[in-house]
Amino acid sequence: MRQFNVVVLGAGGVGKSALTVRFIRDVFVENYDPTIEEEYRRTMTVDGQLSSLEVLDTAGAEQFTSLNEVYIKSGRGFVLVFSLTQEASLKEVDNLRKQIYRIKGGDTTVPIVVVGTKLDLVNEREVQRATIQSLASRWDLPFYETSAKRNWHVAEVFEDLLRQMRVR
Ligand code: GDP
Ligand code: MG
Repeated sequence: MRQFNVVVLGAGGVGKSALTVRFIRDVFVENYDPTIEEEYRRTMTVDGQLSSLEVLDTAGAEQFTSLNEVYIKSGRGFVLVFSLTQEASLKEVDNLRKQIYRIKGGDTTVPIVVVGTKLDLVNEREVQRATIQSLASRWDLPFYETSAKRNWHVAEVFEDLLRQMRVR
């Protein structure tokens, strides 16, 4: 079985842990310790092919750029997370995206998926679909709007990333 390692990056509080734990354990964690960094593993069948995914849920990385560098070097695929309820967190995705390309030596085929979280919080939404749509198309990256709480479109994120990683 092929094995792939994935790094989940994004600003603090955007829902990286909730997304990761929803994918790995299929539960919603309301209050995950924001300082805990954890590596998880699960298998997944996509297009009839079984793969093993190792998912690193990073913590507090946005304040420690040198740590980001270590994560990025070790990762094969990346989930770049922002919150649909926090416009500013989108800027961090752009920074991370640029950092990944720089650290991977300008390779723009690095597997990346952009994820907007907290889709269920409709009344708190700050980032419109059109905004992220046009950014993602400029970046040439796939994006998903998700809710870890409601389990909306979470598996699709990892399926997309797995498909990208398999062909490289
Ligand atoms: P992290 O710092 O990026 O790992 O963020 P967490 O996963 O710890 O989530 C931060 C806060 O957002 C927590 O209070 C979560 O319960 C909440 N949260 C995360 N994902 C969702 C979601 O999909 N819907 C809702 N309503 N809240 C969420
Ligand atoms: Mg966390």
